[in-house]
Amino acid sequence: MIIAIDGPTASGKGTIAKRVAAHYGFHLLDTGLLYRAVARAVLDAGQSLQNENAAVIVAQKLDFAALDESRLRTREIGDAASIVSAYPGVRQALFEGQRLFAQKKPGAVLDGRDIGTVICPEAEAKLYVTAAPEIRAHRRWLELVKADPSLSEESVLEDIRRRDERDSTRSNAPLKIADDARLLDTSGMDIETASREALRLIETALSRKG
Ligand code: C5P
Repeated sequence: MIIAIDGPTASGKGTIAKRVAAHYGFHLLDTGLLYRAVARAVLDAGQSLQNENAAVIVAQKLDFAALDESRLRTREIGDAASIVSAYPGVRQALFEGQRLFAQKKPGAVLDGRDIGTVICPEAEAKLYVTAAPEIRAHRRWLELVKADPSLSEESVLEDIRRRDERDSTRSNAPLKIADDARLLDTSGMDIETASREALRLIETALSRKG
C-alpha cells in the first residue's frame, strides 16, 4: 500500500504525512530530505551547486538511512535543494531508492513533489496539499523567527515564491497535481483540521479502489 503526498513547501504536507503514517502504522519517507542531503554534501565538499556532476555523484552514493535532519532543515539548504533537484541525473539516481522504499510492508507514505506523478504513479491514494503562498510564508516565518528575530515575513515569501517557481517550471518531474490526486487546500485550516481532512480524503480514495 502506497500513499503519495505532494505539494509545495510549507503547505503542511510534512506534518500531515507524519500523522497519516502514524495512523496506518506505515513507513514514512520525506523525499525532500534526499534532495537536501545531496545539496548539503555538495556544499560540504566545497563544490558549487551549479556543478551537476558533483551533485549526481553524491546522489548515486546517498544512504537513505543516514539523513541528519538537523543539518538539512535550514532555509539555505531548502533553497540549495531546489537547485540540485532540477538535475535529471540527480533525480534518476534517487529514483530506485524511492521505489524500493515504497514497497515496504505493510505500507509506505512518501511525501514530496513528484511522488504521485513520477515515483509512484500506481499509489493507492494521492493527496496534493497546498495553501496560498502568503499563508505558507506566514507559517514558515513563525517557525524561523524564533531563531532569527530580524527575519522579515516578506523575505520568506520571496523565498517561497522563488522555490515554487523553480520547482514547478523545471522540465524534469515538475511540481504538479497528478490527475488522480485529491486536492487539499489547507489555507483556512489549522494542522489538526488539515490532518483530519487528509485522512478523510485518503479513506475515500481507498474505499473507491476497493
Ligand atoms: O520538501 P522540502 O522543502 O524539504 O524539499 C526541498 C526541495 O527538494 C524542494 O524545493 C524541491 O526542489 C526538492 N524536491 C523535489 N522532489 C521531491 C521532494 C523535494 O524536487 N520529491
